[in-house]
Amino acid sequence: MKLKLDLHPIFNDAERIETALAEIIEKALTMRADEVEVIPGKGSGALKKGVLRYLDKPQVRQKYHRIEKDSDNWGRLFIHFKHDRSQNSKADQRQVIARGTATCMCCSANFSCELPDIPEPFRRDLLCPACDTPLQIRGTCDRAGKWHLDVYLNY
Ligand SMILES: [Zn+2]
Repeated sequence: MKLKLDLHPIFNDAERIETALAEIIEKALTMRADEVEVIPGKGSGALKKGVLRYLDKPQVRQKYHRIEKDSDNWGRLFIHFKHDRSQNSKADQRQVIARGTATCMCCSANFSCELPDIPEPFRRDLLCPACDTPLQIRGTCDRAGKWHLDVYLNY
């Protein structure tokens, strides 16, 4: 599968370009696309340089396999991805993480909370998704493998 990112509409907004690039890379990873075609457009050498600079950042660089520059001077760039099967099955497993239900101490809203893979007590700080109150969830797992979640105010 191939994705396309046309930078023409946002060519003069460096911040939006970086956001657009970050989004398309994430999308390619999620959808397991082989290739993203980036179209900076004709006569936009500076823009293309900016795109390359962004793609060269170490934290971005590790997400894709390689960059291919168009042989003619039209200005297209291709970002190639390699999707490792074993990595993918790990990612699939991560999507079926168990969740428990916790109740906000402040507004009594119920919300779901990710549970760890290992049955060891954990604490997690978060904001109530309903009222934004800082909460701490303390979870313990009993011998039957059932999680018990206690919620505390975390001021
Ligand atoms: Zn709340």
